[in-house]
Amino acid sequence: MIFLCEREYNHRVSTASFLFHDRLNDFLRQDQKGRPVIIQFKGPQSIKHLAESLGVPHPEIGRVQVNDQDGALTTIAEDGDQVEVNPIENGCVVEPRFLLDCHLGRLTAHLRMLGFDCYYENDYEDAQIAAILGRDDRVLLTRDRRLLMRKVVVYGYCLRSLDSFQQLLEVVARFELENKIQPFHRCLRCNHPLQSVDKELIIDRLKPLTREYFDEFHICPNCQQIYWKGSHYERMLEILKQVKARS
Ligand SMILES: [Zn+2]
Repeated sequence: MIFLCEREYNHRVSTASFLFHDRLNDFLRQDQKGRPVIIQFKGPQSIKHLAESLGVPHPEIGRVQVNDQDGALTTIAEDGDQVEVNPIENGCVVEPRFLLDCHLGRLTAHLRMLGFDCYYENDYEDAQIAAILGRDDRVLLTRDRRLLMRKVVVYGYCLRSLDSFQQLLEVVARFELENKIQPFHRCLRCNHPLQSVDKELIIDRLKPLTREYFDEFHICPNCQQIYWKGSHYERMLEILKQVKARS
């Protein structure tokens, strides 16, 4: 057995092989996909740190095996280790409530339309995001994988698509939301739960055609926005149909 003092240990170069499965390959360079990636490192490094150094954010990672034994993200890699990393399984271990980064306004509206609780401001600072996640068990949705790598993020998903509708399909599939959809449940503007309201109470605020053709209304008690089953409702039904067809 060779004993190294801390100084020598920290300067010794170790090598480990990482094999990423399935959708984790989305994060790798073209020449790294689907094959073992050899990584060199100095000093004690966790599997989490090494995986993230290759671009794979920890909230995307599920089962880890080290030399065919169960491991964990916190396992310290040893020289010669063979590490296999699987994506986290679909589903949501916490209530599906989301925090979306500032580029995801359209996805926020889609998710709220389906009834999901979504925090979104277009000027969240990174520090605010960290504070919200530290307080709530929210799932962070972002395209910024560096944000997902922050220590404070426990639950998160890196959106692959740039298209907001494709992003919605990704989120529904990843967190298995199909059976949790509750349309007309949440304000698209401010996220507050909606209440049904008598037409008579809001009739002064309706345009003539809306007044004539619709009888069922919801209102946001927070921002007073009124909702009815008009063209936005038709669009929502179309989105729901497509979500269900693809899931
Ligand atoms: Zn509102």
